[in-house]
Amino acid sequence: MKISEIIPYVLTEELEKEFYFSQWEYSNRKICIVKIISDNGLIGWGEAYGPAPVVKECIDYIKQNIIGMNPLESDVIWSILFRRVHDYGRSGVFLSAISAIDVAIWDIKGKYHKLPVASLLGGSYREKIRPYATGLYFSDSKTLTQDLCDEAIGYVNDGFKSIKMKVGLNVDDDEKNVKAVRDAIGFDIELMIDANHAYSYDEALKLSKRLENIEIKWFEEPLSPEFYDQYSDFKAKSQIPVAAGECEYLRYGFQKLLDKNCIDFLQMDICSCGGLTEAKRITSLSSTKGVKVIPHTWGSGIAFFAAINFISNLEPIPGRLYQEDAYIEYDRTENKIRENVIKNNILMKDGYIKTNTLPGLGIDVDENYLNEIKI
Ligand SMILES: [Mg+2]
Repeated sequence: MKISEIIPYVLTEELEKEFYFSQWEYSNRKICIVKIISDNGLIGWGEAYGPAPVVKECIDYIKQNIIGMNPLESDVIWSILFRRVHDYGRSGVFLSAISAIDVAIWDIKGKYHKLPVASLLGGSYREKIRPYATGLYFSDSKTLTQDLCDEAIGYVNDGFKSIKMKVGLNVDDDEKNVKAVRDAIGFDIELMIDANHAYSYDEALKLSKRLENIEIKWFEEPLSPEFYDQYSDFKAKSQIPVAAGECEYLRYGFQKLLDKNCIDFLQMDICSCGGLTEAKRITSLSSTKGVKVIPHTWGSGIAFFAAINFISNLEPIPGRLYQEDAYIEYDRTENKIRENVIKNNILMKDGYIKTNTLPGLGIDVDENYLNEIKI
């Protein structure tokens, strides 16, 4: 089997209603996905997390290096791609490009062996995964606090047992919004907060202190990803556990986060950290420190199913008779591409999503829809 073609696409959809987080606003969705075709007709799909048009150029730039290679040799392919961009691609868009290709290669490997990617990664430890709802973004609504409460109650009614909300406006408003949402959903539902690195060290500590008695499961990206020492100090002082990793790359980057004891939850994005191949290596590193892995998951159903397979294979640490749930991030903001690019329905039942039992990633891409919305 040989790789004969690698085709990146940029997909785009305008949003009906724009929303924003602590850094900028979203008015449309743009996602880079990649199709890899092998000479025996098998097709693999992958996705990149990052600025889609730029990543597409990166995929076009690096793809010639692996045309003709056997997709079963995924480690070798990964290494060849990485060595070609090593001098200027140890973080950022080139790694998103490699990640997308790597995910597609794993999809082909699974289809070739007629096994789910989770099985090829070493097997599935579980039959179901607990999704947490990502939502509760900001808007310019005059009734933002009430809107957030209503949205959160909607997720509870949908069956979610865990919800993540945005913070990062300012400490006072965040405190008011988070406490209101906690009051609205009660203490039986888990609540996480995500600042997308909007805070200084002092501000983050202040907010953590003010929220420490209302059971926040984690405080995500309180600080800028460059400030490893601040993360380390913050984690030592914050009663709320710390999560980060969506802006980190490769095992070398995550080693720094782990060695400096920066985090309680490690959140690599499979579609930018270096793909499934590198995410598995990063997980080995985190297991040496007992840090839990809950990947950052964004974008389309392709990225979602890559995460489902990966999370299925996450070793339960610590082991015990009744395992705690493994989590998957399930973005609930408006994104037609997420639901429509795959024909599969992402079914949540009783607050859980079943793991994949189909070959490869387990997805069926709707190429008619893809051709309609590609740029
Ligand atoms: Mg985040």
